[in-house]
Amino acid sequence: MPRLSDEFIKEVLDKTDIVDIVSEKVALSKKGKSYFGLCPFHHEKTPSFSVEPERKIYNCFSCGEKGNSITFLQKTNNITFVEAVEDLAIKANIEMDFSDYKRDNPNSNSFEITESVNTFYKLYLNATKSGLEAKKYLQDRHIKTDVIKYFDLGLAPNDYDLLHKTLTEKGYLVSDLFDLGLVKKSQKETFYDLFRNRIIFPIKNEQGHTVAYSGRTYKKDDESAKYINSPQTKIFTKSHILYNLNNAINHIKKTDRVLLFEGQMDVVAAYRANLLESVASMGTSLTTDQVKLIKKYTNNVYICYDGDNAGIEAADRALKMFENERMNVKLVILPEKLDPDDYINKHGAKALEHYINNEWIDSLEFQYKKKNLNIDFTKMLDIESFKKTIFDMIKNSSNTVIETYIKRLALDTKLSMESIRQDFNQYTKRNISNVSNRYRPKLDILDKYEYAERRLLNYFLCDKKYLFNYNKEFGPVFHIKEDVRLLKDIIEDLYLDNDTKDLESAEIYNSFVKKLTEAQKLFFENRCENKELEIIPKEYEDLIGAMNDYQFNLIIAHIEQQMKSAPTIQEKIKFGEYRLQKIKEEKYGQR
Ligand SMILES: [Zn+2]
Repeated sequence: MPRLSDEFIKEVLDKTDIVDIVSEKVALSKKGKSYFGLCPFHHEKTPSFSVEPERKIYNCFSCGEKGNSITFLQKTNNITFVEAVEDLAIKANIEMDFSDYKRDNPNSNSFEITESVNTFYKLYLNATKSGLEAKKYLQDRHIKTDVIKYFDLGLAPNDYDLLHKTLTEKGYLVSDLFDLGLVKKSQKETFYDLFRNRIIFPIKNEQGHTVAYSGRTYKKDDESAKYINSPQTKIFTKSHILYNLNNAINHIKKTDRVLLFEGQMDVVAAYRANLLESVASMGTSLTTDQVKLIKKYTNNVYICYDGDNAGIEAADRALKMFENERMNVKLVILPEKLDPDDYINKHGAKALEHYINNEWIDSLEFQYKKKNLNIDFTKMLDIESFKKTIFDMIKNSSNTVIETYIKRLALDTKLSMESIRQDFNQYTKRNISNVSNRYRPKLDILDKYEYAERRLLNYFLCDKKYLFNYNKEFGPVFHIKEDVRLLKDIIEDLYLDNDTKDLESAEIYNSFVKKLTEAQKLFFENRCENKELEIIPKEYEDLIGAMNDYQFNLIIAHIEQQMKSAPTIQEKIKFGEYRLQKIKEEKYGQR
């Protein structure tokens, strides 16, 4: 296959205004010669994504994504290099035949067929009497028109071979329909439709081509299997596909997380709760191929499986697979053994969103809960073996974590913390003493910034104006320690959730403490110096000064990094000058 010439690519880029291209996805505002907006490649609240029309590039100062109009289209539309160049050439009115440069898709014939099948099923849902009945069923489950459209839902008629007849009349070969699992052969050698009298969920690959179907019964008296799926075909291997990944890709990139559910109805429920970064492994247990597919787009997974025993076992297996790939896993176990669909119907869409974002547990907590399930806490032997399992689980963790679980064990077993601590020390040969009595070393200079972030929490709790001023000055993110960043987020949420005009800072403080997990509470009490809330103007000034220094060092480090990797001497010199200018500005306060 020939390659597009460099001259041609240059011509396309020269005739393209990158601001136009990016503006289709990102709201930009002009500042000097550049444009700024919220980065489409990571989640942020203040703009760090810049577009430079003169150099025809974009660059995100937070996540480091950069490139030109071609890479921008590739990444945001999930298309190939040649497809992106073709789109730009069409926009720039450049005549060119791209067919030689594109790999022929060996499955294009199959995808053409599934496209026609989608049209057939959709028409049947939207323009027939049975369709009305099916829609009523969907409406009763709060699946409205927007949802039907988003997931491309259709209806298979209650008919022996209507799909078969319609498609062969259109000229498609029955052998192709058979190979795609759409029709089956009877003993009398006639063909009949696989899906009959079912609501149809098309299953699509990453590029959005339909590769298979899942059909769900919807009539009360229908006693056949609730779901049937397409068999394995040349375009469909169940273990390679994640339901809804095609729609979710850009949202996964943007939020830098994926929500993994068990079935397609869960994903539909998540959509209703405005959680668009959701996919499903479709009833089967998760495969390594599916894990790798997710890892292409993010390292952060929320496993949202059902809260029944089967769901918890499946979540445990999935957890281990992700951890093998060194991915970060959070688990969401819905209460009352509900699945997401039931949960949303009982408590509402907002509640599901809130639950997933706030009530997740980490893998240790999950293990603890899971091991805790079958323990009879009145039996000494059970308690002894439970203690040891938990000791094994936490023995390599930080002191804070160990202390948290010692506390949990004490509560569950009704033994004293001190005796459990002694058992732990004996069992693991570690030496844990009560953390709050531990000697705290004097801050060294490196800890200065870390200390400043921790200590600023005090001011945020005293008055929201400190928090909002901080965000205005430095952006909403705490950079140095994850623990502290999460605490800041909790305070911020409190102010956003409540109309806090009339709230005393003591009330804010109390509702803040209530929101903390045990581990966070320990961390906050012991590391954040919040014996009492008070405002000391001189200290506040020093803390802000420290954060200024930190941000400045970050910027300089970033420029130096760019200088190092710049391809030409001229570029290196430019970054060098930029660096000097920044240092001067800092020194003479011309910011
Ligand atoms: Zn970014």
